[in-house]
Amino acid sequence: MPDINFNPIKLTQALVKCQSITPNDDGALIVVQDHLSSLGFNCTPLTFVGSGSYEVKNLFATIGSNGPHFAFAGHTDVVPPGNESSWTHPPFAAVIEKDKLYGRGTEDMKSNIACFISATEKFLEKNGKNFGGKLSFIITGDEEGEAINGTPKIMEWTKKQNIKIDHCLVGEPTSNSSIGDKVKIGRRGSINFFLTVKGVQGHTANGHRAENPVHYLTKLISNILAKPLDEGNEFFLPTAIQIPTFDVGNPAHNVIPEYANATINIRFNDLHTAESIIEWLNEKVYSIFSDKINVSCNVKHEISALSFLNKPGNLSKIISKSISEATGRNEEPELATDGGTSDARFIKNYCEVIELGIRNQTLHQIDEFIYLRDLDELTKIYYQILNNYFKKN
Ligand SMILES: [Zn+2]
Repeated sequence: MPDINFNPIKLTQALVKCQSITPNDDGALIVVQDHLSSLGFNCTPLTFVGSGSYEVKNLFATIGSNGPHFAFAGHTDVVPPGNESSWTHPPFAAVIEKDKLYGRGTEDMKSNIACFISATEKFLEKNGKNFGGKLSFIITGDEEGEAINGTPKIMEWTKKQNIKIDHCLVGEPTSNSSIGDKVKIGRRGSINFFLTVKGVQGHTANGHRAENPVHYLTKLISNILAKPLDEGNEFFLPTAIQIPTFDVGNPAHNVIPEYANATINIRFNDLHTAESIIEWLNEKVYSIFSDKINVSCNVKHEISALSFLNKPGNLSKIISKSISEATGRNEEPELATDGGTSDARFIKNYCEVIELGIRNQTLHQIDEFIYLRDLDELTKIYYQILNNYFKKN
């Protein structure tokens, strides 16, 4: 008999105790499935393989009948804990100390899934199964990894099954100083460039017979950093350029090296496309290297996410209203597009999607934790969103 407990603290602990480091599941999806089944959800475990990636377990669960279709989306996988001996409490022990619950995945994002389930239980208890619409859970075991056999394939599957979702809430940690003070309505895109400059090796005393690739690469990089690409707009921060690596690997102080390498990461807003960024970078490279004979620059790129924006619509209105009703605060939540990428980027092609979750403080860190009181507040907000969405007030 599975252990069923809808208290969001107990439920978060049950999830954290599963060592679900991508792509291992370690029972995490079963915890979700058992709870939803006990509420009457129709659960479909979905295991996807292929497309050049590892096998991933996922879950689609649904309840209700005709009417608007709302979905909660999230992931049960977590990033590795790093050096376990650096943790104050073991990363998968889900230890509570004073007002905090510690563990890998507490913030990102098992607590949010626990609050989804806890709010759903309250909602169904009040309204029964015929609440005038459909409620689904889209849960993947691969958001932190390659994300190939996860959410994108669940969404393709829903389409094949003729399941039409109208609105979706992704439970990533978005809040800032209080729960619900910030939601995300889009994300910047992310692209990496890998640069290798090849010069001519030689003695540092005979620079005229060599070509130092470091000199060219530093010139290229300062050119790239010289001027901001834009100033941002109503919904987006300015496009940001970072140079995370610069490597020559030359052990000798008297040798001009043959190669110099650097990586450039660009987080771009919706004023650009991946193609326009690639073109912009290629022009910079061309301007320095096109007339050189002995020096060349090789550029490879990898697009990790495209930028997207969900113009605030019905869902964001319902969410703002629900946050102020549940918390008693009157300020509108900030509609933001900062931070890293999330699975919302796959869902936005199917329906309006917004991200709202617990406070963003310690995700991916040693000693990741959440405040216990935040779980109650987030559950109340999710509950109120369901009430307002299905007009049950
Ligand atoms: Zn996450």
